[in-house]
Amino acid sequence: MAAPLVRDRNFIGGRWVDGTAGARLPSTNPATGEVLGVVPDSGPQDVDRAVRVATEAWPGWRAIPAPRRAEILFRTAELLVSRKEDLARLMTQEMGKILAETRGDVQEAIDMTYFVAGEGRRLHGYTTPSEMPRKAAYCVRAPLGVVGIITPWNFPVAIPSWKIIPALVCGNTVVFKPAPETPLVAAAFVAVLEEAGVPPGVVNLVTGGDQAGAALVDHAGLALVSFTGSTEVGLGVAARCAARGVRVSLEMGGKNAAIVLDDADLDLVTDALTWSAFGTTGQRCTACSRILVTPHAHGAVVERLAARAASLRVGSGLNAATEMGPLVSEAQRARVEQYVALGRSEGTRVVVGGARVAPTGFEHGFFYAPTVLDGVRPPMRVAQEEIFGPVVGVIRCATFDEAIDVTNGVRYGLSASIFTRDVSAAMRAVEEIRTGIVYVNHGTIGAEVHLPFGGTRHTGNGHREGGLQALDVFSEWKSIYIDYSGRLQRAQIDRE
Ligand code: NAD
Repeated sequence: MAAPLVRDRNFIGGRWVDGTAGARLPSTNPATGEVLGVVPDSGPQDVDRAVRVATEAWPGWRAIPAPRRAEILFRTAELLVSRKEDLARLMTQEMGKILAETRGDVQEAIDMTYFVAGEGRRLHGYTTPSEMPRKAAYCVRAPLGVVGIITPWNFPVAIPSWKIIPALVCGNTVVFKPAPETPLVAAAFVAVLEEAGVPPGVVNLVTGGDQAGAALVDHAGLALVSFTGSTEVGLGVAARCAARGVRVSLEMGGKNAAIVLDDADLDLVTDALTWSAFGTTGQRCTACSRILVTPHAHGAVVERLAARAASLRVGSGLNAATEMGPLVSEAQRARVEQYVALGRSEGTRVVVGGARVAPTGFEHGFFYAPTVLDGVRPPMRVAQEEIFGPVVGVIRCATFDEAIDVTNGVRYGLSASIFTRDVSAAMRAVEEIRTGIVYVNHGTIGAEVHLPFGGTRHTGNGHREGGLQALDVFSEWKSIYIDYSGRLQRAQIDRE
């Protein structure tokens, strides 16, 4: 029989357990303000217990051959397929994005799990000739140990899957601390792993906020911290890990730009940028936050985008007609409001939106109107800082070269796009934009799991998730030399 979907406790050593200190944290439906459930607000004792259990489970898990570990992951993917609708509905209730998008979030986890499970039969190293006779040389991937995983709320199943599934196929055990806004859907994902047959202690869940996250980062038993969240928190996590020599992989903020040249297909631009700016209520790390337009296209782009933004149906994500859901929390809405006020004070023009909205029947939800700011200039704070809400700023650029400079002129480097029919301009943009992801004639969102995902500069620290590159985060290389010559052969010295 299928396990119940909603779990409201920690999962440690294969058991669903209460937090030791008894503190609890509510999970709130952002469309209604109602409390959906309460979970442990875990502290250092809970984290310590989880890390100890994961440490004990590690030798057994890494001893299971990778193809057999992967069989459990294939079962996980199949269960995710059968639970997709239930997980999506729970996710919409817990973080607000519309059902089409929460289904997409679960689908991304399904794609990632099938893709990475396939690696169980590969996990390729390589053999290579030795410089010595009668000597074999090859290299293999080795697991790291216990991995601490800290995630945000905006992709509450997909992002944990990008980390947990590759960690497992590589032979690591996991302590997972999800965002405090989305603990129930995180627990539902862990319950799927449990049901698929992941052995006790191999994946452990500790719910809570900053305190639980900090306790995990500071725990001496971790081999790696894999973090996705804001740049501010991520850089602090990195500093604490660096002080102890612990590996850390960071996926952080973005300030993503779309360039629209005069020759662009404006119907396509309007569709693509409405989706990129207002999909997930602008709460994607790859959301389009800046539109850089050359002079001829400028007026038409602003007019069309504003018309589309004004027409978007804002409401509960469970309603099939809704096109944009609420912000995840009152705090997130207040942040958006502050940025729009800042934009006004910096001299931008609010073309559309710029206010809270209260759809009928959902007056207690955290809704904000899709907002377009025009007259944004590159040095403004609204053009430099991540807003993480349904607000997009339009920046007029005189030339292609200026648009490239403005695209690169922020501290982030996650995603960018260009709309043009000129293949030379498109190829130059691909070459000159300094982001981890570049799209041509497409918005800034829409990554696929089998390509590397991540960003440059303050978006990351050089690692990539997704693709085979994810395996590099969750394993380390071991080189093996087997000398069967029966005599001492000194590398670089005995050359005769
Ligand atoms: P956040 O940085 O506030 O929190 C992220 C996680 O870190 C949460 O689980 C939180 O509890 C935990 N945390 C907070 N303080 C901590 C501390 N001192 N020590 C350890 N852990 C701590 O981010 P958020 O609001 O949850 O998510 C939004 C941010 O995530 C945005 O900046 C967005 O761009 C980013 N994001 C990036 C990617 C990417 O792949 N680059 C993907 C999604 C979201």
